[in-house]
Amino acid sequence: HEPSYKWRRVLLKVSGEALAGDQAQNIDPKVTMAIAREVATVTRLGIEVAIVVGGGNIFRGASWAGSSGLERSSADYIGMLATVMNAIFLQATMESIGIPTRVQTAFRMSEVAEPYIRRRAIRHLEKGRVVIFAAGTGNPFFTTDTAAALRSAEINAEVVLKATNVDGVYDNDPRQNPNARLLDTLTYQDVISKELSVMDLTAITLCQENNIPVVVFNLNKTGNIAKAIRGERVGTLIGG
Ligand code: UDP
Repeated sequence: HEPSYKWRRVLLKVSGEALAGDQAQNIDPKVTMAIAREVATVTRLGIEVAIVVGGGNIFRGASWAGSSGLERSSADYIGMLATVMNAIFLQATMESIGIPTRVQTAFRMSEVAEPYIRRRAIRHLEKGRVVIFAAGTGNPFFTTDTAAALRSAEINAEVVLKATNVDGVYDNDPRQNPNARLLDTLTYQDVISKELSVMDLTAITLCQENNIPVVVFNLNKTGNIAKAIRGERVGTLIGG
């Protein structure tokens, strides 16, 4: 009989920065291919995978608005469009190795991708397709972490898996303090009260309110994405 895995449906959050890898270009095809390969191994097990992509490798609204005088809302729309570029790149990579993938955007871009329709997204997942949610929440002043929290609640994902360039959450900044310790588990309240820069507060409180655990892990280590999706111990687990 089929082995059972901890999660049946997950939401994988891939930040733009993670997609950049060590490339001078905005996107490193080695990274997108590594993600695609690992996602392929878990969809074969029957685990449903939805992905929210960030856009920070191309454009970050808040920092542009701050430094250039560009209006924040306009800057944020550009940021959301950046996430669509990443989504299409990732989709193309996944389909190149045979993973059926749909992109759904939070605002209409009908020639490029489907609009976000919750029930349709769920249907795709049930059919074994990977769904990539692009354009964040569709609203300026939000982040793709918040989009990940929101979409995971909407589609009843059991966990948000936040793929980053660091091993997890530390009790101190590991770049400044060599004794910084990687934390295995944390409560939502720890993240909020200690102001740990794991996710913005809007995102973390949304996860807390909906009892959706968050796993923060390093996607640069081979096998980690598949491990996280299968529910194996990796990185830092935030819950409770
Ligand atoms: N963004 C937005 N609303 C959202 C999600 C994203 O306005 O719901 C914009 C915002 O400008 C943000 C940019 O899109 O800076 C890229 O997203 P984010 O910074 O979350 O990407 P990541 O840090 O994951 O690469």
